Amino acid sequence: MEIKELLSIVEREKINFIDLKVVDIWGKWRHVTLARTNFSEKTFCDGVGFDASNLGYASVENSDMILIPDPKTAFIENVGGEKVLSLICDVYDANTGKPSYHDPRTILKSTLNSIKDIADEVCFGPEYEFHIFEDVRYKISNNEVTVQIDSKEGFWNSEETGEYFIGKKKGYHRIPPFDTLMEVRNKIVSKLLEYGIPVKYHHHEVGTCQVEIELNFVSALKAADYTLLVKYIARQVAKEYGLIVTFMPKPLYDEAGNGMHVHQYLVKDGENIFAGDKLYGLSETALSYIAGLLKHAPSVMAFTNPTTNSYRRLVPGYEAPTNAVFALANRTAAIRIPAYVKDAKKKRIEFRTIDASCNPYLAFSAMILAGIDGIKNKMDPTKEGFGPFEKDLYVENIKPLPYSLTQACQALKNDNDYLKLFPRELIEHWIKLKISEDREIMSIPHPKEFENYFDI
Ligand code: GLU
Ligand code: MG
Ligand code: MG
Repeated sequence: MEIKELLSIVEREKINFIDLKVVDIWGKWRHVTLARTNFSEKTFCDGVGFDASNLGYASVENSDMILIPDPKTAFIENVGGEKVLSLICDVYDANTGKPSYHDPRTILKSTLNSIKDIADEVCFGPEYEFHIFEDVRYKISNNEVTVQIDSKEGFWNSEETGEYFIGKKKGYHRIPPFDTLMEVRNKIVSKLLEYGIPVKYHHHEVGTCQVEIELNFVSALKAADYTLLVKYIARQVAKEYGLIVTFMPKPLYDEAGNGMHVHQYLVKDGENIFAGDKLYGLSETALSYIAGLLKHAPSVMAFTNPTTNSYRRLVPGYEAPTNAVFALANRTAAIRIPAYVKDAKKKRIEFRTIDASCNPYLAFSAMILAGIDGIKNKMDPTKEGFGPFEKDLYVENIKPLPYSLTQACQALKNDNDYLKLFPRELIEHWIKLKISEDREIMSIPHPKEFENYFDI
């Protein structure tokens, strides 16, 4: 929306509060709420000062930053019956008055600007998988770690109690009454549509109380903004039903995990440049993009799969990818070419590794820069041994993806030249941060270790 239009909406609708949202390094929104009296045209150039040290950015000598709202991101929320105008912000450096190069949203914008010679637009179609629980209780005390989860469709210890409603791995596209979550999904999606987010559809996923919402194609920047908005809305609507949402990649043992697959293609001069007459109706450009993304996948994953829990999802048996290869229909491959897409305008690839525990701005930038590196170097995925492989990769372990966050961080340490728009301090800071997260989890004895090693 135009700034003038926003100001007149605030006047006309008697909006008293303007909520400024900004992403932290972990990919979570933080917010500060402006009183209407302090909101004017100037807010869009002078911004609002804040202390950025809590956003977790790489240590910046000066943590005084400025939030500059992006008028194109405006949406109106209802908070306790009162209308609030919400705006997503970019972070500017208070000293230089320029966009902060530590700001993830700025990094994605610069990434998109830097590839204009190859693509005018990067189009993304994200798929959000998540669980909706009734209750989650976890306890971490001096010498005990316990988790108990209840949902409308099953219980944590349901194997003993036999209280599963759907049963493991049986939920895909199930109908009510087995699908107990249609109403809440409808409500989430209605709200998303109200905010202008182009939802394609929603459905029950494979797992007990696991659901999915898919978007139509949007530009990469919008896809990143919408990712945070979808998570925000899903949580709030579920709360109205007394339910809890989690996008954790693998909340339940021996159940399907939550991916955030991203379908993607590039546009140049109004044309989808992934369509062509090569393998699977793809262009040479698309194949090179695939090769770049697969070559750099282990280091990209430090951003697309940045939690210790991410690696519990990427294991054989649950339709999650385990290998850095591409294939037509094979869901065990990191990249899938949807076979049902015949229309050249919609030709795309699907990157399946990524999950929603990522910071979408950093993750999307890393994916794009990896693919673009493949295009610049005219890489051919078939010559690099990346496939296509239609066989079961869970059995034949070709080009395995990292097994742990530490492995992905090590890959990032050795392979980051292609991440041109990522400040070096940010990469170093990220590796340190993420390895320490992995170390912490490693320090907790796992229940299964008692079975394996107690009598050793
Ligand atoms: N839940 C699976 C994953 O973790 C994906 C299932 C599907 O193909 O939609 O990636
Ligand atoms: Mg799915
Ligand atoms: Mg998918």
